[in-house]
Parts: sequence; C-alpha cells; structure tokens
Amino acid sequence: MEKIISRIHRIKLPIPFPLKSTNVYYIHDSIPTLIDTGINTDESFDKLSSAIAGYGGSLSKIQRIILTHGHPDHMGMAGRLTQYCNAAVYLHQWEQNKLLLGADKARAFHKECYLKFLKSTGLSENIKQEISMEILLRHSHIYSQITNPQIIQDGHLFQFDDFNLKTIHCPGHSSGSICLFDETSEILFAGDTVLNHITPNPAVEVIPFPEAPDYQSLTNYRLSLKKLHTLPISKVFPGHGSPFNNGNDRIKAILNHHIERRRDVINIISNYQADHNNAENGMYMYQISQQLFPNVSQNETFLCLSESSGYLDVLVDENIIKKNITARGNLYSLV
Ligand SMILES: [Zn+2]
Repeated sequence: MEKIISRIHRIKLPIPFPLKSTNVYYIHDSIPTLIDTGINTDESFDKLSSAIAGYGGSLSKIQRIILTHGHPDHMGMAGRLTQYCNAAVYLHQWEQNKLLLGADKARAFHKECYLKFLKSTGLSENIKQEISMEILLRHSHIYSQITNPQIIQDGHLFQFDDFNLKTIHCPGHSSGSICLFDETSEILFAGDTVLNHITPNPAVEVIPFPEAPDYQSLTNYRLSLKKLHTLPISKVFPGHGSPFNNGNDRIKAILNHHIERRRDVINIISNYQADHNNAENGMYMYQISQQLFPNVSQNETFLCLSESSGYLDVLVDENIIKKNITARGNLYSLV
C-alpha cells in the first residue's frame, strides 16, 4: 500500500465556501491523472500547476481527469483544464444534468429549476429571487464547461501502473456521485460521499435528469452508504479534509446521524403543532430548516433547505408526515 500511496498527492485548493478548501488528487503515473479539479479561478489553476510541478509532474501532461461529482468545487475547473492539457474527463452518467452549470445559454432554464424548488419551501418571493440569483452568479464565476466528457457507469475500471480504481456509483450527495476503490490496497477515493468531520449534504437535485425521475437524495444516499459499508476500507481519501482510516466506522456514524436528524425533524413539527394548538396547519420547509440549522448565513440557506427537503421527502414516504401543497409552498404536518 505504501508504494501506491507514495504516488498519490493531495493538493488542497481554496474555495469560497464554508469548507474553505477542496482536495484534488494528483496521481503520478504513466497516465498522469487528476481526481477532481477545484473551482475555476486563476488562483486554483496556479496552485494546482505549481503543486503538480513540485511532485515532479506537469499540469500540461495530465491525460485523465476523473470527477467524483459535478459540484463546482470538484468539477468547476475541468473544462478549463481540458483546453490546457487535452485530458479526457470522466463523469458518471447521472451527473450530466450539471454539465451546463454556469453556462450563459442554460441560465434561464437553471433559474427556473432553482425557483421551482425554492417555491416549494415557503420563502418569500424576494428571498427566493435573491437566493437563485446568488447561486447562478456564483456558478457563472466558478464553472468552466466541459465539451466532450467520457460518460461512465458503475463498475468502470481505471487502470494505473500499480493498482486499479473501480467506479462505485454512490448517488446521494449528488445523483452521479462516484467513489473509486482499489480492492487490493483497500483505498477509497470518496469524493463528498464520506467525509470525516462533517456530515455530507444529500443535496436536492433541482435540475431534472431522465435516468431516475423519482430520485430522492437522502434515500439514495443511505443505500449508497450501506453499499460502501460492505467493503473493507482501510484508508479514505475524501473530497475535503485529511485522509483518514476506519472508513467503515465513519460510514456507520453518518448513518446514525441521519436517524437522529430524522427524529429532530419530527420533533420540530410536532412541537410547532402543539405550540400553535392547531393540528391542521403545518410548517413550511424554510421554517423547519431554520430550526434544524439555526444561525446560518443567507448564502448557506440553500444547502440547509436542500438537506431539510431530504428528510421531509423520506418522512412523507414513510407516511409519518403529510405534505399539503399551497400557493405559498408546501406545508408539512404530522399524519
Ligand atoms: Zn459536493
């Protein structure tokens, strides 16, 4: 395993989000490879280029870019890099709905998609507009478009000199999230599916995709974690933070966290209904989200809503709460 690990270099790149940095992995190999890219800024580009040079490689000689998923801090610079080094970019089939993020021609459609989700949350009209504009503006700054991605599926094998990485489709954090696993050394590149110090957000998929029209993020995420838990994982290379051991323990802890949070959502709705002495009226998603995640800034509102919606979908499916669709948004109350 040491021989393999000596070829894997973690490069921390800055991001303008609460996590502060994202990991790109440079694999120094006959086929020089990057796993993820960071966001599309000059600062990221320069840092990546000098880090690879420091490990005896060259950014211009990268031949392969494997994307763990399509969020901007992982895919944002991929388009720009392919222009620079001619590398092939690999992306899971279910992640194709994110290929045009940040592109001018898709702006109106994406705005409509974000607003459609925000409409269901009960937020006021001006806040919905502000949040969607903020997201679109951010995307236009940090995404570069990939023109010809290689679309991959579960099981796709990437060969390296001393090991192979097998693609494991892990929908949940995003629809086309993948992990990459080497069965011999038992190392896992986890993207944002398994992180050590924060619980990954099962992000809502606002842009529809044809492969799974009834897709639900949290349900899929839990199935993916249970699938990963069957693997003997010795070392995890995550999308954010330092590599860590005991991957299976961490997966178990995330699964347990979901059970606690699910309970919190039920309690929030039940307390609200008791306090308001009105079993008929429920709560809007934004009210539930504010109680689940107090004290967050407005630019984190979307992520909080996204996570809340995962729990609400599951609880509606389980017939523990019901959803009443109103002109202002969905109201959730206990069944
Ligand atoms: Zn992500």
